[in-house]
Amino acid sequence: MALTTQANKNSIGIASTETTAVFNTTYKAGSHSSHSGIYKCSKCGREIAFNKDDNPLPPHYSNNSCRSPEWKLFIYAQN
Ligand SMILES: [Zn+2]
Repeated sequence: MALTTQANKNSIGIASTETTAVFNTTYKAGSHSSHSGIYKCSKCGREIAFNKDDNPLPPHYSNNSCRSPEWKLFIYAQN
């Protein structure tokens, strides 16, 4: 689970309906995404920080039992 402080919580907004679609896209390791932020594997729940300038999206560490992550954008870093 991603955590933040109570003070930072007030700086996180809710995505508009137009933006919500980017949260519903699933990416496999090696896929490219144009959105930076925190991604969560929909199979095992692992969270990663991802910068869109560091494409492609990574695999899990080799010692993770989840072999093929399905990354979904969890927190969008807009700026
Ligand atoms: Zn996984």
